[in-house]
Amino acid sequence: MGNEHIVDFRDDLVTASNYLRLAVPMMVQRGIPPTPYNYALWYAHVQNGHPELSQKLLAEFADEDSYDPRKSEALFFEYFVKHYLPQSPQAQDLIASLVAQLARSVSRNLQGTQTYGASLRDAIEIFEQSVDPLQIRALVGKLLTETRDLEGLTQTFQNELKAASDRIEQLKNELAESERRARIDPLTKIPNRRGFDEAIAQALSAEDEPTCLMLMDLDHFKRLNDTYGHQMGDRVLQIVGGVLGKLQSDRIFVARYGGEEFAVIINDELEGAQVLAEQIRRQIAALQIKRKSTHDTIGKITVSIGLTRFRPGESVETFIERADQGLYRAKQDGRNRVVIA
Ligand code: GH3
Ligand code: MG
Ligand code: MG
Repeated sequence: MGNEHIVDFRDDLVTASNYLRLAVPMMVQRGIPPTPYNYALWYAHVQNGHPELSQKLLAEFADEDSYDPRKSEALFFEYFVKHYLPQSPQAQDLIASLVAQLARSVSRNLQGTQTYGASLRDAIEIFEQSVDPLQIRALVGKLLTETRDLEGLTQTFQNELKAASDRIEQLKNELAESERRARIDPLTKIPNRRGFDEAIAQALSAEDEPTCLMLMDLDHFKRLNDTYGHQMGDRVLQIVGGVLGKLQSDRIFVARYGGEEFAVIINDELEGAQVLAEQIRRQIAALQIKRKSTHDTIGKITVSIGLTRFRPGESVETFIERADQGLYRAKQDGRNRVVIA
C-alpha cells in the first residue's frame, strides 16, 4: 500500500460535490446506507486513486442484497486505518474499535458522543497492559494526545449540536406560539374566524359524528355602543366571550365569528345543542354589567341565535348559510330567542 493517500479529502468544493454526485447513485443502487465509512469508501472509489480498493468494493457490494455493515467496517479498517498504524497490530485493533465507536456514536445521537471519551480511556488501560514498555509508552502518549484532541473535537461538536438543537427548539416554540396567536381573537381571548374555519372543517371530517352549528348575534349592539360608548361595547364583548369561553371543550367549540357575532360548533344531536343554545341565551340575558364610572347597571344584554344540524353531503357554506337564516328569523321574530333552521 505504501504511503500514498487512500483518499484525498482536500478536493475543492466543486470537485468534491462532483465525486459525491457520482458516488451517491452507486450507493443508492446497491442499497448502501450513508454512514461515515460508506461515504469514505465510495468517495475513494470514484476518486479512482486506489484500484485494489475499487475492485474489492465492487466485488463485495455487487448488488442490492450484498450490503453488510461488517464488510464496510472491514474494508474501512483495511484501507484507512491499517495504513496509518502499520507497525502495531494491537494499536490497529484499538484504533479500529475506537473509530467504529466514534462513527457509531456520532451518527447515533448527541448522548452517544459523550460516551466516546470514557470508552477511549478504558481502551487505553487495556492497551497499557501490553508487553513492550518503550513502544507502548510512545503509543500511549500518542493516543493520549489524540484522545485529548478528539475529546476537544467531540466537545465542540457536541456544543454546536446542542446550540443548534436549542435554537431549533426555540424557533419551533416561537412558531407554535405565533400560529396559536393567529387563531385567537385579542379582545375576547377565544378563537377567531380563522380558528372557526379550521374547527368546522375538522368537525365535519368526522363523518359519523353529529355536528350542530349556532350563530349568535348581540341584539341592538349599535344602540349599546351609542348609549354607553365603544369601550363599554368592547367590555360587553369580552364578558360574552368569557361566558362562551368557559364552554370550550372537546365537544363544544366557540369562536368570535366577527364584530358582535359568535359561533358555537356542537358535537351533538340537535336536542342537546338546543338545550345548550337556550342555556347560553338565558345566561347572557341574566348578566348584570356595571358601568365603571357611575357603578349603575346597564340595560339587559340579549342575543339572537340560529341553530341547525349538519346534513351529510352538504357543503360547509350551505350549513353555515342555514344557521344564518335561523339567526335572521330570530331577529325578525323579536330577538332574544333561539330559532332552529
Ligand atoms: P341587531 O339586533 O339587528 O343585530 O342590531 P345591531 O345594532 O346589533 O346590528 P348592527 O349590525 O347594525 O350593528 C352591529 C354593531 O356592532 C355595529 C358595530 O359598531 C358594532 N361592533 C362590531 N364590532 C365591534 C367591536 O369590536 N367593538 C364594539 N364596541 N362594537 C363593535
Ligand atoms: Mg351583527
Ligand atoms: Mg347585532
